Amino acid sequence: MTHNCIQLGKRSTSTICKRASISHPKQNVTIKCNYPRSLSASSNVILHSVPENYGNVGMILLQKGKPVIPQQQYRRPFKYPFPTSFPTPTQVFFLMAPSTDLVDFCVRLPKVELHAHINGSISPKTMHQLMDRKRAMGTLNEELAAWQVPDSLERINDFFALFKYIYQLTEDEEAIRITTRNIIDEFAADGVKYLELRTTPRKNPATGMTKESYLAAVLSVINEPRDDIVVRLIVSIDRRNTLEEAFEAVDLATKFRSQNVVAIDLCGDVSKGSFEALKPAFDKAKSLGFKITLHFNEIMENMVEAPALLAFGPDRLGHATFLDDASRQHIYGNNIPVEICMTSNVVSKTVDSYETHHVKALLKEKHPFVLCTDDKGVFFSDLSNEFVICSNTFKMNKEELYESSYRAIDYIFADTKTKEHLKQVWNEWRMQEFN
Ligand SMILES: [Zn+2]
Repeated sequence: MTHNCIQLGKRSTSTICKRASISHPKQNVTIKCNYPRSLSASSNVILHSVPENYGNVGMILLQKGKPVIPQQQYRRPFKYPFPTSFPTPTQVFFLMAPSTDLVDFCVRLPKVELHAHINGSISPKTMHQLMDRKRAMGTLNEELAAWQVPDSLERINDFFALFKYIYQLTEDEEAIRITTRNIIDEFAADGVKYLELRTTPRKNPATGMTKESYLAAVLSVINEPRDDIVVRLIVSIDRRNTLEEAFEAVDLATKFRSQNVVAIDLCGDVSKGSFEALKPAFDKAKSLGFKITLHFNEIMENMVEAPALLAFGPDRLGHATFLDDASRQHIYGNNIPVEICMTSNVVSKTVDSYETHHVKALLKEKHPFVLCTDDKGVFFSDLSNEFVICSNTFKMNKEELYESSYRAIDYIFADTKTKEHLKQVWNEWRMQEFN
């Protein structure tokens, strides 16, 4: 989709205009053009004919995929004073988001995030930071040095391949601490007041990181005192794990339980492994009183194991994309909350479009669900954006968005006192916002 709306300075810029393109027309839009060699430092960039429903516009300048100035936000009339000289060529990205009012509301709205994998939530900014760190330490290998941190969804061909690089960037405890802290900061800046992060304990013999020291690093940051957000941890068991590894994860969760580990999750490549093989570890977790959430029926092929997963009695389900009558009856009958990740499902193509997303049925049935991000770093969508998408797609007004966010507090895995505290925060916000 080409959009003729950029003018650089006073000079004729038709070439640049023709090359500018909107790369993600649905929600966040990136307009890209090359910074022209001839532009003077005093030039302005003016965006013309920006559609009315596109409110916030940000600008970021990149060289070889690396920001040279931090992203800046601008409002109408979108005039950009260019910074003083820096080497060319530089790419200029304009990041635009629809409807200022709705976007602002969704960022301000206090929110609960219950389905966020640490590795997938690492932002490109953090990836750059970790690359710089490795470069400074002299541990950047050739493969990683040649890798380009993705700057948009379109640049990612294979999400699973991306994790190969993410693991290399996060192979020691300090990298894990940096990552976890940045993720929490980013969720807090997006208006998330309660966050349940999840991760599969990972080891790296080369750096001496063990599964235990990995979890200790994550939890040391989760438990740093802060008053803007409450954070808890879910320990994930990967479908590819052996039963022994699954038991190890439960044992570690038990060891760190007093440090705000609240639940156990079944995650990982949906086409691999089976719940049945790992069930004894989940039985143990349940008997110890851990809450349980399971990635459920993400693809049709998973439906055969649905009866076993539901019979286990999970406290929440992730995705629940494909439901036959028996599953639907069980989930509705037992009021099991569903963690909904719209962008994740659409981008990874388990759902055709936002319009046909299965949350539509849950809205109609008034069945409990919680909007979540899954992997905000690799899918380029934070939680406020998921609220914008849901609102735009299913015509939810602000009151309904607030209600949805408020109801999510009932489905968190924290204690009653935390729930009551959060409800108070939400109520106070509501009084201010709607009066
Ligand atoms: Zn997930």
